[in-house]
Amino acid sequence: MIRPRLPDCAPILTLLAVACASAGDPPPAPVGRESSSPAAAERSAETGSERCRLPTSPDTLRAEDGAVLLRWDVPDDPVYSGPLLPADSALLAYRAAVRADGADVPWPVADEPTPRSDAEADLWRDERFNADLARSGEAGKVDRITCLEALLFALQNRRRSQLVHPTEFLASVLRLEREGADSLVVLFGADLEMFPPKSVYGFDVVETLVKRGWRWSYALHNHTTQREGDHIALGTPALSTSDVQLVRSLAADLGLEAARVTNGFWTYRVPAEQFGRLRSR
Ligand SMILES: [Zn+2]
Repeated sequence: MIRPRLPDCAPILTLLAVACASAGDPPPAPVGRESSSPAAAERSAETGSERCRLPTSPDTLRAEDGAVLLRWDVPDDPVYSGPLLPADSALLAYRAAVRADGADVPWPVADEPTPRSDAEADLWRDERFNADLARSGEAGKVDRITCLEALLFALQNRRRSQLVHPTEFLASVLRLEREGADSLVVLFGADLEMFPPKSVYGFDVVETLVKRGWRWSYALHNHTTQREGDHIALGTPALSTSDVQLVRSLAADLGLEAARVTNGFWTYRVPAEQFGRLRSR
């Protein structure tokens, strides 16, 4: 998110299509790009579940020239943090296209940019550093996308196909602990262009809620599709140096507890206590 000068994360996509980097129980991962075939596409067909859904329509807090800030107030539900995908035809089509192109790998490979200066080379080095820590599990962990993450990704993908018009959204999930079931506030800000304007970040809403005793569980954004030659490459599931700069200040000022980055298949999740291990601008 918030990368005014350079395409988001292009530098860190040089990474190795090497699976099994994270500790624990890594998901089964194809190594590198697989050749696609109709039979492979058939085998990889997946369906969504009606159980993975938000129970109400959102309130529109802001809407301006295609940029929106949306808010849901919902009871927490274990399904949100589980593996079910929403029954969203556009999301399933996106995933099918990525899989058919052999691009659904945890460590995406995209065209490597050529640094135009020493400063830019230093920046790419720092981006790779952050991605390496994500990949190795030394700071945070990459795992499969969950239902709520997929719902938010699907929402933006429906507004703007990530295969045709790559864009980024920024979402916040806040929690109020209550007996029985916690309450959640979910905020979603996005534009129809690549980066959402600050007017739809929703941090003012977050601040109001935090002052009322809500915890800011995590901020989620997406790293959108890249290219590897003629092929699709997923966005890198890692925090960029500019992301780190932002989430550190949000942790200090508003108590942000964790950051997440998803690409529609894989999500990087890193707690605030580990932000200090990552490199910032
Ligand atoms: Zn980012």
